[in-house]
Amino acid sequence: MTFENTLAYAKSLDEKDPLAKYRDEFNFPEVNGKQVIYFTGNSLGLQPKRAVEYVNEVMNDWGALAVEGHFYAEKPWWDYHERLSEPLSRIAGAKSSEITVMNTLTVNLHILMTTFYRPTASKYKIICEEKAFPSDQYLIQSQVRLHGLEPKEAIIELKKRPGEHNFRLEDILEKIDEVGEEVALVLIGGLNYYTGQVFDIKTITAHAHQYGAKVGWDLAHAAGNIELKLHEWNVDFAAWCSYKYMNAGPGSASGCFIHERYHTDKDLIRLAGWWGHNKERRFLMEKKFDAVESAHGWQISNPSILSLAPYLASIEMFDEVGMEALITKQREITAYLEFVMEDVAKAVNANYELITPKKEIERGSQLSVFLHGKGKDLFSYLMNEGVIVDWREPNVVRLAPVPFYTSYEDIYRFGEILKKADSLF
Ligand SMILES: *Cc1c(COP(=O)(O)O)cnc(C)c1O
Repeated sequence: MTFENTLAYAKSLDEKDPLAKYRDEFNFPEVNGKQVIYFTGNSLGLQPKRAVEYVNEVMNDWGALAVEGHFYAEKPWWDYHERLSEPLSRIAGAKSSEITVMNTLTVNLHILMTTFYRPTASKYKIICEEKAFPSDQYLIQSQVRLHGLEPKEAIIELKKRPGEHNFRLEDILEKIDEVGEEVALVLIGGLNYYTGQVFDIKTITAHAHQYGAKVGWDLAHAAGNIELKLHEWNVDFAAWCSYKYMNAGPGSASGCFIHERYHTDKDLIRLAGWWGHNKERRFLMEKKFDAVESAHGWQISNPSILSLAPYLASIEMFDEVGMEALITKQREITAYLEFVMEDVAKAVNANYELITPKKEIERGSQLSVFLHGKGKDLFSYLMNEGVIVDWREPNVVRLAPVPFYTSYEDIYRFGEILKKADSLF
C-alpha cells in the first residue's frame, strides 16, 4: 500500500474505516481541553461507555437484591463468569469450555503452573525469554524455589543475538533442542511487551512438545490484539490480563485457556476451591472436591463480579466487530504509523529507530521506538502536547494505535506534533 502523510489522506482512510464509529463508544482523557491521542492501550485500554452501564447494573442489583442477586440478578452472579467464555473463545481461538476468567494475570499463571510445572529429578527446566516482563521473572523464580530448586539451574533464558532487537525463531528451537528432555515447561510472553515482537506460538509449542514439555503462554499483550488459535496450536495453557487491549479497566479479571485434553483428569494437581467444584453440587458443601470438567475447574473463589462486568461489556464489543476486522485495521493503522514516523524522520533528520519487527505477522498494534536523542525530553514534550505514550528504560517509547479507537487522523496529527520536536532528536 502507498500511503501519504497528509490530513486529507488520513481523513480519507477514516471515512473508509468500518470501525470508525467505535471511537465514540470510548471515554477519552483530555489535555488542554482537547481529546488526547491515546497510544497506551497496550498498557491500559480506554474506558468503554458500556462498561459504565454494566458496572452500574451490578451495583443496582446489589443494592436492590443483596444476597438474592446470586440467583436473581439480571445476570445472576453465581455463574456470571461463564458468560465470558463463549465470546472470549472467539478471541483466543479456543473452544468455549477451554476458557475461564478469574483473579488477575500473575496469580493465574501461578495457579496454572501449579498444575503444569511438575518438575522431576531429570525434567525440571523452564525455558523463558531473557528480560521477560518482571512479574513473569518473579513468577518463574518463585515457582522454581517452591519446588526446592535453584533458579540459576532450573531457568534457561532465550537470548537475542548481540546487536539485534528481536529473538530469532531458529535460535529458540535450537535452545529447546539443546535442553531436550530436561525441559519441563516453556513459558514465554506471546507478544514481547518491550519490542512488540510476536512469537511463533504454533511452531514453538509443537517443537517443545516433541520433548514432552508443557508449553504455556503469557498473552498479556496478545489477547485482543493478534490472531490466536490456541486450541489448534495445541497450547497447554495460557493466560492474559483484560485491561490492556481488552479495555476492561485497571486490575480487572484475567482470562485463562486450558486445553480440553486436561479437563477430565481429576488427578491433576491443582489449587482447588469451591468455585471449581461441580456446579450442580457446589452448594451441597460436600467434603470431596469434584472438579468441573472444563477450564472452570481451575476456579477457586467466587469471582469479583465488579471486575467481570466491565470485561463482559468490552468483549461483547469484540464479538460485534470480530477479530478479523480488528486485525485488518490493526495491520493497516500500524503500517500507517510506521510510514508517518519514517516520513517525519526524513523531513527533520530525526535519529529514532523502530525496533519492532517489520513483518505484519510478527507484530501487533505496537511500535517501539528507540530514541537516540533527548529521549526523556521528547517523551515529556509529547505528553504535554496531549500524546499519551509510555516510556520504558533506557530510551524506548511504545506507541500502540488501537483499532477500536485510534483514528488515522490521530496518526497524522501525531506526525505533525513530532515534526515540531526537531531540537530533541
Ligand atoms: C501487563 C503484564 C503483566 C501484568 O500482570 P498482572 O498480574 O496483571 O499485574 C504480566 N505479564 C506480562 C507479560 C504483562 O505484559
